[in-house]
Amino acid sequence: MVWRAASFVYAISAAITHTVTPASTFNGVQRELVDHYITAKDDINRGDYQTAFARTDLMRPGSTKPITVEVQFMQDALAQSPEAYQAVRGAFAMWGGALHQQTFRLAERNESPDVVILFKTDVSQNGAALGGFVNWSRRICGNVGVTNGDIQVRTIQPNGISMTIPQLRHEIAHELGHVLGLTDDERVGHVMSGLNLNDPVDTISAEDVEGLMNLRQYAFMLRQVAQNESNSRGY
Ligand SMILES: [Zn+2]
Repeated sequence: MVWRAASFVYAISAAITHTVTPASTFNGVQRELVDHYITAKDDINRGDYQTAFARTDLMRPGSTKPITVEVQFMQDALAQSPEAYQAVRGAFAMWGGALHQQTFRLAERNESPDVVILFKTDVSQNGAALGGFVNWSRRICGNVGVTNGDIQVRTIQPNGISMTIPQLRHEIAHELGHVLGLTDDERVGHVMSGLNLNDPVDTISAEDVEGLMNLRQYAFMLRQVAQNESNSRGY
């Protein structure tokens, strides 16, 4: 069992360094997540399976259980709450379709959420109006990797008109994409492109998530390797 598991690790390394072009394998994925992949292999080789497990969680948030999301409103944005909730559900459905599994769900009342989305009439940074933004954090707690996010989304366009459901949905899906580990897309017309108020995106293509799906698959395989190795050593 040990040699099989070990050779599996080498096979993955070989795929990274030789068979597949590294730059395109994890296209559009944050460097931080790819680093967890590289480091997790070192953890396994060192016998630190607990940390390797945690890193595989960070590489594929929402894959073993949905990421829980709490929706909050500033007082002045409460009037847009029906549209906002509909947009949140729409963004969840977009990600569910793209990743072929339920990736996000609303948190229960007594549940501590992984992600908070705060709706405000205006979101700006350094004087520039934004559709929204996210601050995310990823940390290792024992053998578990925890991903959190704080998202803010505006409900009123800079011209004073309410954001439409499609506009809100694109913005929310975009920020959730960062939580999942995607970078901004410099092209136009993609979920990870900046929101174009005149042309919000309503689907996430297979190409948009190809790099992320590759990383998630690698995380799954690494987890199995770590599991096999730790079993064989009696952990
Ligand atoms: Zn962005």
